[in-house]
Parts: sequence; structure tokens; C-alpha cells
Amino acid sequence: MLKVLGERCAGCGACAQVCSQGAIEMQPNKEGFWYPQIIRERCIDCGRCYNVCPWIDMGDSSLFHPSPRVAYAIKSKSRDIQMQATSGGLFAELARKFIAAGGVAYGAGYNSSFQVRHLRTASMEETEQLSGSKYVQSFMGSVYALAKQDLQQGKKVLFSGTACQIAGLRKYLVKDYENLLCVDVICHGVPSPRIWEYYVEKQEKRGGKILEIIHRGKTIGGWSWRKQFFYLVFADGKVLRENIWENAYMLGFLKDLYLRPSCHECMFKRLDKRRVSDITLGDYWGCEDIEPDFFDASGVSLAIMNTLKGEQCLNEVENISKKVTNLEKAVSYNIAVMYSYRRMLARAYFFRKFHSQMSLEEFGRLVDTCVRLVGYENSLRKLCDYPRRILGKLKRMCLGIGAKS
Ligand SMILES: Cc1cc2nc3c(=O)[nH]c(=O)nc-3n(C[C@H](O)[C@H](O)[C@H](O)COP(=O)(O)OP(=O)(O)OC[C@H]3O[C@@H](n4cnc5c(N)ncnc54)[C@H](O)[C@@H]3O)c2cc1C
Repeated sequence: MLKVLGERCAGCGACAQVCSQGAIEMQPNKEGFWYPQIIRERCIDCGRCYNVCPWIDMGDSSLFHPSPRVAYAIKSKSRDIQMQATSGGLFAELARKFIAAGGVAYGAGYNSSFQVRHLRTASMEETEQLSGSKYVQSFMGSVYALAKQDLQQGKKVLFSGTACQIAGLRKYLVKDYENLLCVDVICHGVPSPRIWEYYVEKQEKRGGKILEIIHRGKTIGGWSWRKQFFYLVFADGKVLRENIWENAYMLGFLKDLYLRPSCHECMFKRLDKRRVSDITLGDYWGCEDIEPDFFDASGVSLAIMNTLKGEQCLNEVENISKKVTNLEKAVSYNIAVMYSYRRMLARAYFFRKFHSQMSLEEFGRLVDTCVRLVGYENSLRKLCDYPRRILGKLKRMCLGIGAKS
């Protein structure tokens, strides 16, 4: 049954978690992305995996909330929280509120080997692990089941992740819970855990034990794609600090060399901007132009309220500055809200050439080659597009379409 999905599967793992027989395991494929594998002897053909899958059931438009209600520019009033976060720090402020009310917060953090996993956190200290974007697909393990237990016990649950992970949770839960708030991040796409784990392992072989990793670290006033840094802190005190456009791993991510195949046709990016979570969070790119009086060069979050519940929750968060903003203008700077990034030919070249024995220098050279290939492909596409546009113009001229009378 799950073969139907193929590369459209986003790996949320709801099918594995719902299976009462333990007949589905999430296994990495050769690119390093998890896909469900059915253990035939255990399967009793109950169809629960089929029913829980957000992709098989994409016709289920009830997953999508009606059009967004309002959007805000937001930043935390705490400089520490803002600096730790990738954008304005709204997620950490929301999490604080849930924890202070005896609730729990779920989101992506690292385990001791810097693999990215979804974690359940129940204290302020634990919640800190969720701060900051990790540009790797997060493994869901059994968090949907844990969240369900928390919800049934009446705890307030904040569940964050990518839109596909939120969709998986909502399908898994079947019904809506008043004590659940879902938050999704605007998502460029998630890179392969295999490439990430290779990268961490090679860095550790070279520099010794790693103590801390920050994918998009900022300095005060340094929140912009051009100014951000990738950081590795080693146990002996050494620090690797590279501009994100010069760090091979981040460059490969930004140029879409190793995103999950489903991210190139993401079902959760819609032109009508309807979303599956209560609040959608992202970087407020364009804030400088759209809200110059609110702009803060240390980071501003764009927060889209998709439900009344989301809006009410936000109104209860105290330690933030916020300003209503124009959603249309904001998303025009952030195409990841509505569009998936193209699957470039260079992606196939990358995976054909990549092997885990390659040195970091070889990896860097492979990424550079692929980046050049991406450039050639884009130029060729533009070139091929040119005659089509000229022909269209000619056609419109000849047929008098769009001509002024
Ligand atoms: C893979 C990825 C791609 C992104 N692409 C874009 C984009 O194109 N445009 C844009 O505006 N914003 C994007 N973001 C979101 C952005 O980087 C910030 O996470 C978001 O603005 C929230 O910022 P914050 O300051 O409120 O919280 P932060 O502290 O920066 O973020 C913490 C939140 O991010 C979640 N998170 C971190 N890593 C992951 C992960 N691997 N998988 C799932 N959830 C994760 C945590 O669970 C938590 O909810 C992306 C995030 C990720 C993880």
C-alpha cells in the first residue's frame, strides 16, 4: 500500500506510530531519508497506516484551516532569546508560556551525536534545546504518541515542526484538542540526515568532540542571509565559524542539492496560503522595507495566525513586541510559503558522486561543482524560456490580446 506514495512520502512517520502491530519501521534509503518499510509477517492489513497518511488523504481539506486571519512582525523583548533564535524568538516565548502553565513543548533538537530528533520538553532548560533552526530533517520517533498521552492527560501541548510533521500529528490524533497549539515553520525544504551525519562525523574526526552546533548563528545586528554564520564549537575550545554561503554543508542546503524529494513538490505550500497549523513562523524577510519602524537587525519573526486559537494564544504572550503587518507583502519576500524549490539536475549528480568516505575537501569540491551546475541549469532554463516568451508576446500581438483600443 505505502508503495503508492513513493517519493511523495515526507517521512512524518505517522504510519509507523499508528501501527498497533509494530509492522512499520522508518528506514533510511540510500540518500538518507526515512521511508516506511512494512514487515509483512506482522501486518494484519487493518488499513490504519493508509488512513493516517496525510498524503494519501490530501483530498481531506479539513486539515487546512481557512485563509490566514492576520500576520504579525514579532520580536522577543529578551535580547538573549532573540539572539539564540534564528529569527525573532517567538517560538521560545511561546514555549516559555506553555511550560510556565505546566504544559509541554515539542520540537526539533539534537541528541548527543547531533542527530536531529523531535523531542518532548517539560522544563525551561529542556526547551532551550529546541531554539534555533536545524537544517536537517528531524526524526519523529514516537512523539505523536507521547503528545497524544499529554493531551489526554489534559496538559497544554505546544507542538512545533514543519507543516508535513504537523499534518502527520493531526491525522494521528484524529480529533482536535482544545489544549493543543500547532506551530509550523515556513520551510525551504529539509536536507538529508545522511549528509548531515557524514558532515558532523568528518568534522569530529578532524577537530575532536563537538560541543555545540549553530546552523544560522547571528551577531548583534547580524540577522540577514548574507551576514549569518555556521558555528561548530569543539571540546578543546576551537571554533569553526564560516559564513553560511561559504560553509559547504549550508551552501549545499541553500542550493537544494540534498533536500528530501517530497520537498520539491510540497503539498503544504499553497497559493491560497491555507495552512495546517494554528501559527506559522518564519523569518520576516523584507521587514526593513515593509515595517521600517519595527525592523530590528538582530532578527524579526513573521508570524501568521491561521486560527483564532493561535491568535488568542499569541495575545497571552507577554515578553514580545508585535505589529500587525501586511501578509501579501511579507510573503512576496518569502516564496517558501507558497512555492517549492525546483529539483535541479545537480541534485542527482550530487547523490551519484557522494560517498561517505570522501574527505571534507572532496565534499566541498563536489558542492562547488554542483553549485556551478545549478547556475548552468538556471541559465539554460532562462534561455529556453526566452523564445517561449517572445512567441507568447507575438501571439498576443497578432490576436490583439491585451492591446489597447
Ligand atoms: C529546515 C528548515 C527550513 C526553513 N526554511 C525557511 C524559509 O525558507 N523561510 C523562512 O522564513 N523560514 C524558514 N525556516 C524557519 C526559520 O528558520 C525559523 O525557524 C523560524 O523563523 C522560527 O524562528 P524563531 O526565532 O521563532 O524560533 P527558532 O528558535 O529559530 O526556531 C525554533 C523552532 O524551529 C523548529 N525547528 C528547528 N529545526 C527544525 C527541523 N529540522 N525540523 C522541524 N522543526 C525545526 C523547532 O522545533 C522550533 O519550533 C526554516 C526552518 C527549518 C527548520
